[in-house]
This record gives sequence, structure tokens and C-alpha cells, in this order.
Amino acid sequence: MSDTIAFDFAPALSLITRADRIAIASHVDPDPDAIGSLLGLGVALEERGKQVAFLSDGPVQPNMHFLPRAEAITDTLPPGFTPELFIALDSSDPKRLGSVAQPLLADDDIPTLVIDHHATNLMFGEVNVVIVEAAATAEQIVYLLDALDHPISKLVADCLMAGFLGDTVGFSVSSTTPLTMRLAARLMEAGAEVHTLTDRLFNSRQLNEVQLWGMGLLNTTLDDGVLWSVIPYDQREAHDLVGVSRTRLSNMLLTVAAAKVTVSFSETADGNVDISMRARPGYDVGSLALELGGGGHKLAAGCTIPGPLEQAVERVVTTLKAIAS
Ligand code: AMP
Ligand code: MN
Ligand code: MN
Repeated sequence: MSDTIAFDFAPALSLITRADRIAIASHVDPDPDAIGSLLGLGVALEERGKQVAFLSDGPVQPNMHFLPRAEAITDTLPPGFTPELFIALDSSDPKRLGSVAQPLLADDDIPTLVIDHHATNLMFGEVNVVIVEAAATAEQIVYLLDALDHPISKLVADCLMAGFLGDTVGFSVSSTTPLTMRLAARLMEAGAEVHTLTDRLFNSRQLNEVQLWGMGLLNTTLDDGVLWSVIPYDQREAHDLVGVSRTRLSNMLLTVAAAKVTVSFSETADGNVDISMRARPGYDVGSLALELGGGGHKLAAGCTIPGPLEQAVERVVTTLKAIAS
């Protein structure tokens, strides 16, 4: 039994080996896989003597602040830092990286290495390590570090385990493979504290996140196997819940037994609508997200579409009913 996957890492290794100063970014509204793979790869590269800029557009949720080197994450390139390589993590398209990454993507002198596991990836790097079978981008970082012959330290193991736990929802969803479990066992052997990470990631939240769930859960409708939740911007604003992540609200909607696919609609300040979808195995919301300009996986995907809210809801729910039928 092999602890790796058939993939040619040589072009990625060559980019990494040649660069001394590396900027790494992952997607906006970062989840534990975005932050865990950012920190895990970045710390490993620091261990190899590289200078690393850890970039993330917008705030990191407080329940991830405990991760090693989380304090190094910034939304601006540190002054005087001139990257020789840009690594884009867990992001299926360039705009998903937010504004901090755009000048780096536009700079012809800085190659982009894309590392991502979304089937909807647009392959926007000079080199693309896109492995759809990987349960998390953090899983791909393990393959990459193995290919570099880099031993995994406890610090790196903790960061990467956060990514594994986040995207597999504690090794519970169908993307979790025997290989995922073998790699996770190696991270545990390297010192990753699964129980502490699980507690921080899943059982520790800010009060306002729970209040947002309350709002989202009250505003739900179930029809023809589709469960949807709608959060108008003025309600978010009135309760001071702007900017609060609804990823875990989305996961919770799918616990309703009668739902085959679920969707949460959240209106933004500029009148657009953020959409987060989930599906039971056998259904696919990733293709719809891609069609609507977003991306994701078959079972978890998202996008942002123009308002008004009622029309966006009508349009997406109609399509989802066809998907769920
Ligand atoms: P979320 O619903 O935000 O937890 O995201 C579920 C999955 O869809 C994750 O893999 C995200 O990276 C992806 N995703 C969510 N929103 C977008 C978007 N606007 N564009 C591309 N991918 C997205
Ligand atoms: Mn992610
Ligand atoms: Mn991911």
C-alpha cells in the first residue's frame, strides 16, 4: 500500500527549489484547509530556509488563531518582500484569492504554482498541482513535502491536520479515503494533536456565529428535497452579524434528513448574493456553482451572483429542485 498518489511533482519541486522568497496565499473567507495548508506549507518552507510571506485576504476566524505561525498571516505583502514564487492554495480560480494576490498574479516575473483539489479549478498557474482525489489541499501538501524529502515536524503536522479535519469534517464525509487516513496517521505520529485541534475547530466559536445560525435556521424552507436558508443584508446588519462566516451553518442545514441538497443565500452589502451549497452523495452542486461563476466540489460548493435576493433565490432553487429530483 502506497502512502502517495501518482502525480508528477517535478515541475512544482523545481519552482520551489529555485525560489528563496515565496509568497503563499489561500482563498477569501478562509476555512481550516485554507489556513492549515497555508501555515503547514509555509512553516515547512521556513524550515527549509526560505523566506515566506503568509497571505490571506480578510480576517482569519479566531478559532484558528492558535495554529503555529498564524500571527504571521497578513493581508498585505510585507514591505520590501520581493517574491520569486507565488503559491496559490485551495482556490479554484484567481479571484477567489482576493485582492492581496492580484498584483502577484499579474506580475510576469513571478511564476504561480497552483495547489488545489477542486474539480472546478481553472488551471491558472504556470504549474498546477490539482489532485481532485485529495480530500484536502493539506493532503496535497503532504505529497509535496514527501516529494521534497522534507520530514514533517509537529508544527507542520498540526497545521496540516487542521486542513484534513476541516475539509473531511472530522474524517466523516465521503471524500475521506483509506489513503487520507494513512496520511493522517502519519501526521498524528509526527505529533498532530487531533483531539485539541478538533476541539478548537469544531467546538469553539464566537457567539455571533451561533447568532447567525439562529437567523439562518429560522429563515428556512424545505420543498422537493431542497432546503434553503435566506439571510437578507439588513437583518445581518441590524444584529451586527456582517462578516460572520456561514460555512458551518451550511454544514448544519444538510443534517435535515429530508434534504437532498441545501443552500444558504446571504445578501452582501453591494446587493450581490453569496451562495453556499451542500449535497448528499449522488447529487452534484459543484457544476452549478461553476456555471454561476464560482466553484467547489460535487458535495460542497459556492458562488456569488447578482441580486436582487428574491430573484437569485428563485433562480437557484429552481435549478436545485431539478438536481434533487
Ligand atoms: P463554503 O460553502 O464556503 O464552505 O464552500 C464550499 C466549497 O466551495 C469550498 O471548497 C469552497 O472553496 C468552494 N467555494 C465556495 N464559494 C466559492 C466561490 N465563490 N468560488 C469558488 N469556490 C467556492
Ligand atoms: Mn477551502
Ligand atoms: Mn480544501
